[in-house]
Amino acid sequence: MVDTNWHAAQALEAAKTRCPRCQSRLDVFETPSGGRNVSVAFLGPSVETTAAALELFIPRDSGAEIQCPACNGRFDPSGPVRRIPALRRSTT
Ligand SMILES: [Zn+2]
Repeated sequence: MVDTNWHAAQALEAAKTRCPRCQSRLDVFETPSGGRNVSVAFLGPSVETTAAALELFIPRDSGAEIQCPACNGRFDPSGPVRRIPALRRSTT
């Protein structure tokens, strides 16, 4: 999949992904410094009451993997897990 507008879109909108371990839906924002901020949009059933955190900052030098704030599981967001399309288009 080639998306030439990806970088422009990324600056404005979070990338949606899902933790393969706890099924939480995550929003991934890139920070100006090159790091990423992962925030939980919906907690997965298994971590609904036990989530470690709802937001996590990942420094630039930590590689392609991101860490799930809820279960602390690490995964590659560009790997086998598909991005989930945004549920809402124009909610501000
Ligand atoms: Zn998780």
